[in-house]
Amino acid sequence: AKAKGKNNFQFFSDDMALIASRKIALENDMRRAITNKEFMLYYQPQIQVETGDIIGMEALIRWQTVGGDVVSPGEFIPLAEETRLILPIGEWVLYTACEQAKKWHDAGHSHLKLAVNLSPLQFIHDDLMDVVEFTLRKTGFPASSLELEITEGVAVEDAETALTRMRELRKIGVRIAIDDFGTGYSSLNYLKRFPLNNLKIAQPFVQDMATNPYDKALVEAMVFIAHNLNMSVIAEGVETDEQLSLLKELGCDEIQGYLYSKPLSAEQFTELLVHGEIS
Ligand code: C2E
Ligand code: CA
Ligand code: CA
Repeated sequence: AKAKGKNNFQFFSDDMALIASRKIALENDMRRAITNKEFMLYYQPQIQVETGDIIGMEALIRWQTVGGDVVSPGEFIPLAEETRLILPIGEWVLYTACEQAKKWHDAGHSHLKLAVNLSPLQFIHDDLMDVVEFTLRKTGFPASSLELEITEGVAVEDAETALTRMRELRKIGVRIAIDDFGTGYSSLNYLKRFPLNNLKIAQPFVQDMATNPYDKALVEAMVFIAHNLNMSVIAEGVETDEQLSLLKELGCDEIQGYLYSKPLSAEQFTELLVHGEIS
C-alpha cells in the first residue's frame, strides 16, 4: 500500500509539473500574441424574441497562434486574469469591438447594441473609466449602445467598489449586464442594489429547462425578478426550437445561441446584416 501511495504521489506531482510548465509556456505565448496580433474578435448575434430581429452582438475573443492552433478563451482568459495580461488584452478587445461596431452603425445599423465581456480585474481596475471614455471618444461609438458584461463574482469581493464603478459607468451612459446569472454566488440583494440593465441567464439553466421542470421554474423566476427590477432578460446558449418556444412563453426578451447563429467573424456578421444569411 505504501509503494502504491508513493506512485500515486509521483504521478500527481508529474502531472502538476506538466500543468505548471504548460502554464508558463502559455503565458509566454500570450505575451507574444499581443504584439503579434494573434487575437481576433468574433461576434454572436443577439436576437429579440418577439420580432426575431438582430438587436446586437456579443464580442468574443479568439486566439489563433502563429502555429495555427486555436486556443479557446476558456483556457487562456483565466490565465490572462491571473497574470494581469487581461488588462492590455481587454483594452484591445474593447477598442477593436467598438471600432468594428461603429462601422456597422455607420453602414445603417445604428440600432445595434454591442456587448463586451469585462473580467473582474478589468472591472475593478482604477483605469477602467479612462479606458472606456478614451475608447468611446476615439472610435466615436455611442456610450448608450455599449453594454459591459460582468459576472456575479465582482460583487462578492467588494460590493461597495462594484457599486461605485457601476454608477460611474451608468453616469456616462454605458449599460451593464450581469453575465452567467445563477451560476455564481447570486444574491438577490445585489440585483436590487446594483444599477443593472440586463440579466443574462446562464447556459445550463437554458439547456436543461426543456427536460427539467426545476430549471424551467428557475428560468421563470429569473425572468419575473428581472422584469420587476426593470431589467431585460437574455437567455444564453439557446440551441433548440423547444428551448426558444419555452423562453417565449416565459417572457424572455432576447436570446443568443447556436439555434440562431454561432459567433461569426466580422466579415460573416456583415454578410448576415446585409443579406440576412451567410453563404
Ligand atoms: P460567455 O461570456 O458566457 O460567452 C458565451 C460562450 O458560450 C461563448 O464561448 C460562446 O461561443 C458560447 N456559446 C454561444 N452560444 C452557444 C450555444 O448555443 N451552445 C453552447 N454550448 N455554447 C454557446 P467562448 O467564445 O468560447 O467564450 C467562453 C468564455 O470566455 C466567455 O463566456 C467569457 O467568459 C470568456 N470570454 C470570451 N471573450 C472574452 C473577452 O473578450 N474578454 C473576457 N474577459 N472574457 C471573454
Ligand atoms: Ca458574456
Ligand atoms: Ca455568459
